[in-house]
Amino acid sequence: MIFFKKEKLQRTITITKDTRDGILTYCKLNHPNEGILILRGKSKKGIISIDGLVIPPFSHHGPTFAGFPHSFLPFDPSYVGTVHSHPSGVAKPSVTDLHNFFGFVSLIVQSPYEDDDIFAYDRDGNLLEITISPDQS
Ligand SMILES: [Zn+2]
Repeated sequence: MIFFKKEKLQRTITITKDTRDGILTYCKLNHPNEGILILRGKSKKGIISIDGLVIPPFSHHGPTFAGFPHSFLPFDPSYVGTVHSHPSGVAKPSVTDLHNFFGFVSLIVQSPYEDDDIFAYDRDGNLLEITISPDQS
């Protein structure tokens, strides 16, 4: 395993309010199972802006892990990461989560899925700061 030096530039995550609300609603609908979605957006100079959601093909849901086979995903540069829920109420990434890391960021939403229940992690499981941006008009 190769360990990279920590980048000086900390990634920042920006999510539009609409997208945040969509994530929370989706998680509530899937409760008590985990729900998983693909995040759309762009990554530029360490800033990841998320402004859309995609329901992954062939996703499977269960109380402990929600996932999808990455090999079925079409290559799309607008896929910046994934979001999934933790019905247990603890938004800590599991070993499985880190093994299944996709893209630049992994969002985890803990039950009861309120505005402050979304957390962002990088590939190493470090917590990243999330900013909610107003919707573009
Ligand atoms: Zn998880």
